[in-house]
Amino acid sequence: MKIKTNIEYKPYDLRKRKNMHEYSIAYNMYQTARRSADEYHATAVKVVHVEVGSLSMVNPEQVSFLFEVIAKEDNHPALVDAKAVCEVVGPETSCVCGYTGTEIYICPGCGALPEVVKGKDVTVARLEIEVDDDSDISNNNDN
Ligand SMILES: [Zn+2]
Repeated sequence: MKIKTNIEYKPYDLRKRKNMHEYSIAYNMYQTARRSADEYHATAVKVVHVEVGSLSMVNPEQVSFLFEVIAKEDNHPALVDAKAVCEVVGPETSCVCGYTGTEIYICPGCGALPEVVKGKDVTVARLEIEVDDDSDISNNNDN
């Protein structure tokens, strides 16, 4: 009888450090990229473009680094060499008085505290993928 023992190496040691927030974000980005790669039958995901809100309190370099660590660990053929490029995007705010802009503390229109509409989130903006020329996903057989 063969006894199967699963000893999984997990890169989760990183979470014990102070960058748990970045780790979970990078992990979610990776999952998103992998789902898309499978969905579009990508042979390679080259670059994952990420928008990091300037108010998100997230370190973009950490996120890029951790993304690549996770990709290497997961070893998915289409994603193992994927890179994550983070772009920091400024805030967008709005106010009940009708003001929209980038002021986050004091509304220039009425002095109230504006509501932050954008700038706290980290989102996957787009993916650069390669698909196989032989794949027939673009061929529509109308007959
Ligand atoms: Zn206002």
